[in-house]
Amino acid sequence: MKIRLLPVLLSSILSGGFAFAQQTPQRIADAELPSLLTIYRDVHSHPELSGHEERTAALVAKELKAADCEVTEHFGTYDDPKLKAYGVIAVMKNGDGPTVLVRTDMDALPVEEETGLPYASKVVAKSDEGKDVHVMHACGHDTHIAAFIGTVRALAKLKGQWRGTIVFVAQPAEEIGTGARALLKDGLYDRFGKPNAALGFHDKADLQTGHIGVTEGYTSANVDSVDVTVRGVGGHGAYPHKIKDPIVLAAEIINAWQTIASRENNPLDPIVVTVGSIHGGTKRNIIPDEVKMQLTVRTYKKEVRDKALAAIDRIAREIAAAAGIPPERAPIVTVRKDEVCPAMYNDPELTKRLVGVWKKTLGDDNVEIVDPTMGGEDFSEYGLPDHSIPAVNFHFGAVDPAKIDEYKKEGKELPSLHSSKFAPVPEPTIRVGIIGMTSAVLELMKK
Ligand SMILES: [Zn+2]
Ligand SMILES: [Zn+2]
Repeated sequence: MKIRLLPVLLSSILSGGFAFAQQTPQRIADAELPSLLTIYRDVHSHPELSGHEERTAALVAKELKAADCEVTEHFGTYDDPKLKAYGVIAVMKNGDGPTVLVRTDMDALPVEEETGLPYASKVVAKSDEGKDVHVMHACGHDTHIAAFIGTVRALAKLKGQWRGTIVFVAQPAEEIGTGARALLKDGLYDRFGKPNAALGFHDKADLQTGHIGVTEGYTSANVDSVDVTVRGVGGHGAYPHKIKDPIVLAAEIINAWQTIASRENNPLDPIVVTVGSIHGGTKRNIIPDEVKMQLTVRTYKKEVRDKALAAIDRIAREIAAAAGIPPERAPIVTVRKDEVCPAMYNDPELTKRLVGVWKKTLGDDNVEIVDPTMGGEDFSEYGLPDHSIPAVNFHFGAVDPAKIDEYKKEGKELPSLHSSKFAPVPEPTIRVGIIGMTSAVLELMKK
């Protein structure tokens, strides 16, 4: 009798049955942290640029295989066929039930690290433009990777508490906004199933460690990239009456664009029009033939986006016409199709449900509703343009609360994401990432 019971006991231990009934995301996170911190420091000191995540992807794939996932590597198809994709898709099956997608990003930024940390990056790599650039995990995607691996390990151990299929997605090229699209283009949902929900997370550079922050509804913006060439008729700088000056024209157009948000639009629907680059001319006394500008345009709602882009085109053309520019020299306005990212919409119902879970798991005071931003995040792609897949991208705090107080007292701004001085406090940051994601998945897939 006793001998017969042994295999039963063993199998329930292995499947996370009653012997591990006391396992919780918190306990597993604590147990896994030493090994995850080693992984974190390794990834931090070996950052890779967007589209070049070869080493990182291999490391993630190895960890996911070790956690008993079915792993597909080199997943993704970029619009540019020359680019190699390093997407890693890992499927964890546990009987019938819902499918939930869990995503981390993997790429780093061309920033020279100035944190002074012992494991700071010293990496220099070739950019896609052929320049040598320093590389740093300045957006904290390394904390996401460590928390993601921790989540995979936790959910493997907690199989007794959930059912269904988890599709773990380690996504390349978030910083250039093309990675999620590349995975979907390669048939992510055809090959691995369309999920019932999609979950993502991002560290936050002004939120204290131990806290989760989330926004209901729009949380990051539609990002559009627009190139504008203002054309005039160049000539000598001393004879402005004989030319059509594209520099004065560009200045008028830039100021008029600012009235799109302030005069043409409902002020409750934000629009940002930023001219981030402007180039024209070669010398003080030569009026050039043209001025080139690069814009980033941020909005939330589709109708507001369409209106803003149309107004940018209309204003450029009509101011040029008013200056006497002939129609064949009208400004050329191009909305780029390759550098675009939809707004992130946190499904309100799902967000409310998860806030309830996090408050129970972490305590009421450790869950904050945070303001949306006009930043971009391509996790939005996974919800599809019609938001038919409920998705939530939540934040976890990365900053020591004492440091937040100190900076506030001194009236200083904390180092932001993408800053060379951004240094998340690894242990509590990764811990809350694991607990937040694992408890969210358990809620959506519970038995
Ligand atoms: Zn970033
Ligand atoms: Zn980021």
